[in-house]
Amino acid sequence: MTSSIAERIRKIQDSLPESVKLIAVSKKVSVAAMREAYDAGIRDFGESRIQEAASKIDALQDLSGITWHFIGHLQSNKAKKALAYFQWLHSVDSLKLAQRINLLAQELGVSPKVCLQVKILPDPGKSGWTIQQLLDDLRELDLCKNLQIEGLMTIPPLGLDSSAVMNVFNQTQQLMREIGDRNLSNIKIKQLSMGMSGDYQLAIQSGATMIRLGTILFGERSV
Ligand SMILES: *Cc1c(COP(=O)(O)O)cnc(C)c1O
Repeated sequence: MTSSIAERIRKIQDSLPESVKLIAVSKKVSVAAMREAYDAGIRDFGESRIQEAASKIDALQDLSGITWHFIGHLQSNKAKKALAYFQWLHSVDSLKLAQRINLLAQELGVSPKVCLQVKILPDPGKSGWTIQQLLDDLRELDLCKNLQIEGLMTIPPLGLDSSAVMNVFNQTQQLMREIGDRNLSNIKIKQLSMGMSGDYQLAIQSGATMIRLGTILFGERSV
């Protein structure tokens, strides 16, 4: 890519509806590149590994007003550290994990914002609730009063054509409505965290409110 990080960010920001928040996914991205993104207006960063994130968050302490979003698979033994560093957890993927985070949040006196990760289609490589499992767990999840459960997060399986991807996003939006109809006391889903570099435009058409973009902003990640 010949354009700069700042140019790419501005171009995408300008194309987004007001209702959509851009989260810059900075996993494997240097602190210097993150500063460039900050200078271009980014205030929401997404990270997927606790250890890597913690050291970068510490290194960026001088930048004010950043919201940190955890988007990776959260292991139970890292949950406490995640709560110390992140305001949003997009990848809460089981009742057991939610209950554990809820207890830890109480101990630490925090109330993180949470997305429940759903797996609309079978996907062996991914975690998350199926639609039915999530509906079955809602009552228990609603008792996790230290969590602000405000969103659903989904990642379509790799290799789908765009109409199949769109279908995944639409079903996620439909699930949000269905949860709303249950009138739960704590769970109020108003955010849809869906859309990555390759499919964010489809996600926005299906009502995404938070898109998680890495490659399209920072370039290819080396593995
Ligand atoms: C890496 C990652 C992204 C960003 O993916 P790109 O294709 O680089 O935009 C978004 N969401 C999650 C959960 C990720 O792990």
